[in-house]
Amino acid sequence: MKLYMDCIFCKIIEGELPSYKVYEDKRVLAFLDINPVNKGHVLVVPKEHFNKFTDAPKDLLKDMISVIQNISLGVMDAVGAEGFNLGINNGAVAGQIVHHLHFHIMPRFENDGLNLWTGKTLTEEEMKRTAENIRRSLAKDY
Ligand code: 5GP
Ligand code: ZN
Repeated sequence: MKLYMDCIFCKIIEGELPSYKVYEDKRVLAFLDINPVNKGHVLVVPKEHFNKFTDAPKDLLKDMISVIQNISLGVMDAVGAEGFNLGINNGAVAGQIVHHLHFHIMPRFENDGLNLWTGKTLTEEEMKRTAENIRRSLAKDY
């Protein structure tokens, strides 16, 4: 199993740094975000180090998504949230600061003031071309 000793989350997984753990199994650990956007903000990480979402093996991600569903239900129940946002920052340009794959579970409350993203308006032509380009890319085997 890959672990990187200069990685904060690998250190948390190894118990070299403290964390408020909420869930653990053979492949996955979940703990409170040190700087939560709301009460109950949890990070879910694979125990093996992968820099980002797009580096992780698909069988691991399949396991993780059902664990994430359970944790989200537990988090919402525990903090009385009505919903949550599930987030992944994939790469520095997307705001990823810790380069060990992690999913953010961010509980949401009525009028909590969070505004995670705003939309842009593209032209018809840009929309059409973008969709075509994505469909062409998806013909590849990733
Ligand atoms: P990113 O921007 O990489 O998706 O998010 C990294 C998250 O990790 C941030 O929300 C930040 O608050 C959290 N974080 C950074 N360092 C630590 C730490 O040492 N312990 C915990 N529990 N969370 C951390
Ligand atoms: Zn790591």
